[in-house]
Amino acid sequence: MNKRGLQYFTLSEIEPRVWFMLTGCNFHCKGCFRPARDGGGTLLTAEETLERMERACLNYYGEVPSEAMITGGEPTLDRDYLLGLVKGLKEKGFEKIVLMTNGYELGVDEYVDELEEAGLTEVHVDLKAFSEDIHRWYTGKSNKQVLRAIEKLNASGIDLLVQTIYMPGIVDDAEIEKIAMFFASVNKNIKYRINPFVPVFAYEQVTRRPTLEEMERAYEIASKYLPNAIISRSCYREYPTPPPQKTWITVYPDLTVKRRGMKDQAEDRLSWLNHVRPRESVMEDWKKEEWDFKLRHSLVGISELGKEVNEEEKDSEPVKVKFPQALHELTKTRETELDLDGSTTIRDVLERLAEKYGDEFRERLIDGGEIKRSFNVYLNGMNIKNLQGIKTEVEGNAKIVILSWVSGG
Ligand code: SF4
Repeated sequence: MNKRGLQYFTLSEIEPRVWFMLTGCNFHCKGCFRPARDGGGTLLTAEETLERMERACLNYYGEVPSEAMITGGEPTLDRDYLLGLVKGLKEKGFEKIVLMTNGYELGVDEYVDELEEAGLTEVHVDLKAFSEDIHRWYTGKSNKQVLRAIEKLNASGIDLLVQTIYMPGIVDDAEIEKIAMFFASVNKNIKYRINPFVPVFAYEQVTRRPTLEEMERAYEIASKYLPNAIISRSCYREYPTPPPQKTWITVYPDLTVKRRGMKDQAEDRLSWLNHVRPRESVMEDWKKEEWDFKLRHSLVGISELGKEVNEEEKDSEPVKVKFPQALHELTKTRETELDLDGSTTIRDVLERLAEKYGDEFRERLIDGGEIKRSFNVYLNGMNIKNLQGIKTEVEGNAKIVILSWVSGG
């Protein structure tokens, strides 16, 4: 059986969800920030990978999740391995099986059809550039197969999201426009996300980080052709605006577990870049980078520009509330909608939910009029602790996500 290198699994602390980090890549992107591209990890067959994933999830969550994200490196390099992995996940009851890929391998023969048949539900393709010369220069490979892969995926039953990194002077307005026009010719409803280049941990610092104005302009250009264009952060899978996640559970192939945050991720990248740039210079650049939730939130805000609604309409829109796994036994659902009667607060929303789901819901979530420490509540991607807490005002069309911090790690 074919084997692939597994660097580690990542388990979400938001709800049961597992990432597979496979090593090795067929591209050599100048601005790559993924140590996994260079190979390494533990060589495992698809069956061995699934067996370890199952043990990791049972140890941590007490159950096998329903969502899997297969990433790397480049996960498509070995077709038999990937098909075996996807089939195995489907057999284990996974409902969402998401592949994150540069798309290159998917542009040939029946690979997309085979993945769909195996049970793949969603693909995120990184389109590095539209112009062949830029793509070759940046990745070392032609983009013809990637463009073909996007057409094949669009024609399949697999959900598709395409992403591009905005790189000033390389992939900027002109490229974004070409990409958007190409997508519009394939299917104007394609979901398209533009992320900012972050030079600090890039293998080669080929350019600078784009300004907010440049990102706004990119959004405007893309949205002329594509109603589903957004600008966002690159590391979250939710579409369009997830709550920020600060720590992840890493499970290594030998099943040792570590809770890791941004600093640990930075450390991985610093070690990886050790032979490329002096550690001190990367550290200095990193300090200069505000790990800037302000800018990130501004970017998330931009993605909402196209959906402006007037104030009256806004109040009449329902509020969406998403529950953590820990509350599903009470709510019997992952999310719900509430109609608002004018302006209200998080406290009122929680009261409405307690009326709907019973006293036990209130007891699990609230203590002394405040939200318990084991839960966090996000309003439109912002932790309410950074707003006005339980008194934060909620308007129609808001998205509320309740998270529970499970033990372990
Ligand atoms: S495709 Fe992704 S992992 Fe591979 S070199 Fe490019 S950025 Fe790195």
